[in-house]
Amino acid sequence: MRQSGGDTRATKATSGGGGKRREPNGGPGASKPEPAWPPAATAPPEPGLHLVATPIGNLGDVSLRGLAVLRGADRIYCEDTRVTARLLARYGIKTPLETYHDHNAERVRPAVLAALRRGERVALVSDAGTPLVCDPGYKLVRAALAEGLPVTTAPGASAALTALTLSGLPPDRFLFAGFLPRQRPARRQALAGWATLDATLIFYEAPPRLAAALADMAEILGRRPAAVARELTKLHEEVRRGPLAGLAEHYRASGPPRGETVVVVGPPEPAAAPADADLEVLLRAAVAKLGVKEAAARLAAETGLPRRVLYRRAVALRDGMA
Ligand code: SAM
Repeated sequence: MRQSGGDTRATKATSGGGGKRREPNGGPGASKPEPAWPPAATAPPEPGLHLVATPIGNLGDVSLRGLAVLRGADRIYCEDTRVTARLLARYGIKTPLETYHDHNAERVRPAVLAALRRGERVALVSDAGTPLVCDPGYKLVRAALAEGLPVTTAPGASAALTALTLSGLPPDRFLFAGFLPRQRPARRQALAGWATLDATLIFYEAPPRLAAALADMAEILGRRPAAVARELTKLHEEVRRGPLAGLAEHYRASGPPRGETVVVVGPPEPAAAPADADLEVLLRAAVAKLGVKEAAARLAAETGLPRRVLYRRAVALRDGMA
């Protein structure tokens, strides 16, 4: 366990084994049949498209059923054969690999669909985590479903849920927002759209943009607790928790961190609504600085007042200022 001083705190999590196994769906017989371990003569997977989640760092984080599907598939489509070959080598799997990634998907998709029509067992994996989650596969799944071809999954790791569970922030209601736009105006506009949502927000973010994204979040989402989860399940796993502004300052000063990061932001805290005269002062200052739309979103997040109402007042103030 590691801790940092200052406004934000980082911890290195350790995962322990030995917990009691619980049936995910409420009791024996509710889950799909599992392969025995070690997987002897496991029955081959059913024909169809199998979305198989792979580890996000630690090669041990793949399910027994996922391995059985990869072993028994006629072929595996992956983003980068070098990455998936490492996982297959670790488990002695020799299934042929082919690529399906952002740059060849349009060309390869018809071949995958043709294989499914022939009744093949096709597995789809991404470099890490759950396919389709900020990774290729959505159009393939949609096309397969449109033709009535079978699609199923062997679920597993995803950085979004891993970060959420370690963040210490409310997990009961959350929005996974994927990657924010790279350009600042578009990023700020996207954040303004979520500012009043009563939910924990989860973002994937590249380390070079982390400090700037956190600074925009602090400005547009207001005072909120947050966490930056880095290198999850890897040797240098770290979760740094603190207020958005403190995290922004930390990464501005320290520079981009190494590895991959997920940002988790707590929901807006309900605040006592300011008196009307105070509200006008706050809104006037925010409109001058941020413009009408962002000012309304920002104050809605900070005060809990309806954004619609604030927007109308902000427009009136702006017109009065002109
Ligand atoms: N499909 C993957 C999933 O289910 O999590 C996500 C793929 S997306 C292209 C890659 C992003 O996921 C990274 O930029 C980072 O934000 C996040 N990520 C993936 N692995 C991670 C890890 N071990 N630690 C922290 N973030 C990770």
